[in-house]
Amino acid sequence: ISSSSSSSYQRPLDFTKIRQSLLPTLIIVGRPNVGKSALFNRLIRRREALVYNTPDDHVTRDIRQGLAKLGDLRFTVLDSAGLETEATSGSILHRTATLTANVLSKTQFALFLIDVRAGVHPLDLEVGKWLRKHAPGIKPIVAMNKCESLCDGSDAIAEAISEARTLGFGDPIAISAETGLGMTVLYETLRPLLEDYMLQFLNNNRNLHDSCGLNHLDNPTEVDESKLPLQLAIVGRPNVGKSTLLNTLLQEERVLVGPEVGLTRDSIRVEFQYEGRTIFLVDTAGWMQRIGKEKGPSSLSIVQSRKNLMRAHVVALVLDAEEIAKTRRSMTHAEVVIARQTLEEGRGLVIVVNKMDLLYGKQNSTSVKKVMEAVPLEIQTVIPQVTGIPILFISALECRGRIAVMHQVADTYKKWCLRLPTARLNRWLRKVMSRHSWKDQAAQPKIKYFTQVKARPPTFVAFTGGKTQLPDTDIRFLTKSLKEDFDLGGIPIRIMQRSVS
Ligand code: GDP
Ligand code: GDP
Repeated sequence: ISSSSSSSYQRPLDFTKIRQSLLPTLIIVGRPNVGKSALFNRLIRRREALVYNTPDDHVTRDIRQGLAKLGDLRFTVLDSAGLETEATSGSILHRTATLTANVLSKTQFALFLIDVRAGVHPLDLEVGKWLRKHAPGIKPIVAMNKCESLCDGSDAIAEAISEARTLGFGDPIAISAETGLGMTVLYETLRPLLEDYMLQFLNNNRNLHDSCGLNHLDNPTEVDESKLPLQLAIVGRPNVGKSTLLNTLLQEERVLVGPEVGLTRDSIRVEFQYEGRTIFLVDTAGWMQRIGKEKGPSSLSIVQSRKNLMRAHVVALVLDAEEIAKTRRSMTHAEVVIARQTLEEGRGLVIVVNKMDLLYGKQNSTSVKKVMEAVPLEIQTVIPQVTGIPILFISALECRGRIAVMHQVADTYKKWCLRLPTARLNRWLRKVMSRHSWKDQAAQPKIKYFTQVKARPPTFVAFTGGKTQLPDTDIRFLTKSLKEDFDLGGIPIRIMQRSVS
């Protein structure tokens, strides 16, 4: 594909070369338990969405987003929450339906899943009605799931097809999310539709030549790591306001928020743009206090949340200001563990003290002041190994501090990606050594050479003369000096040593 403005994008389109943010979006809709999560998992080829077999307990409440890979086809897939039409206002299910309608407006394609074993269920008719109302521009593809159970040569499939036609969306396709049956048919159905959409989109948006990533692939240049997508995890105990913060960051209702403890049962992943950079948000369930206490969906979430923490580049640990004011403790044991784990894993850490409005609301300026003074002091005491961890005081509910949070996250990421040239580092080393007064000359560390071997997080090697190891105090001194001089607060930098003879 050429970048000249006169060229057209041609069939067959290579979807694998198109940047994810430009790909078309397909949402999987259907009543609960038809296999939406199972299909989503198959399409993203990962066990990211939970599938939990309890029909009355809707595990799939949030909307998950992932990159679908179906042969060479790529698209963004959304796993919608179970739709329920008898929802009473204010209930989880009602909000789910509202959220889904919001997301539908940003979706180009819909896959309407039904359970072939149940035939057309009254709730399927409701879903169809709902789709016509909320997404009149989208003609859904009806997919009959669980068809592996019918593959015995009987007429059942023909009957199921004619029944599914009564939904009024044309011929259905037969699939099995669990066994992979019918994925070729799904591919053949989707490819022409997605290709038409994408060709039209690319031809209408010629300014996106560069940003669709096609040219970069042909012409690889030095990658600026700080411009790569940022993976942000928002972690914290249940009810500290993680979902509210996430919504504030996204400035749209994309994630469920509510007072029910543990509402965000599953980890969900959303993508958005901030100042030209793609940010993958990994929301994690408030899992810390549940370890070992619960069975069922919540304990499944724990495993996923740990994994998400490890996948993140920057972790925003959310604390509750009201709790801090009440208990006079900034962090519970579990929160300290999380902060330490984050740093041990080499991730950037940002502390977000939420619900500050509750302290201002009481016109209790002494508690505001106390909290703002106590938190940095206590964090310094409980996590002495990393100095200068950024701390933000916000109110997610009142949308105060959103920009500060994003700015701090982006800044932490930039520092996490920092690469310092060797010449500069050695100039710095000489200065640091001369600045510091050693007890006696013999105690001065004999570092011949200092270099950065990797970024994300910044990792350095100090080459020492002879076989002597630098004492821990020297390593701490170097770490502290690097942090101060290169403004690396909250970044778990690492220094290794090697001896050169
Ligand atoms: P959702 O509520 O629509 O997201 O449905 P899930 O993906 O949670 O699936 C509900 C149940 O159906 C689970 O027990 C799955 O294992 C099962 N299931 C999903 N896809 C298939 C399939 O293709 N065949 C069969 N037999 N069961 C399936
Ligand atoms: P999560 O469990 O950490 O995701 O917490 P949620 O985002 O679901 O929030 C739990 C409760 O705290 C909800 O009732 C929110 O409305 C409330 N909440 C969240 N952020 C704030 C805030 O900044 N100020 C106040 N006053 N309440 C908040």
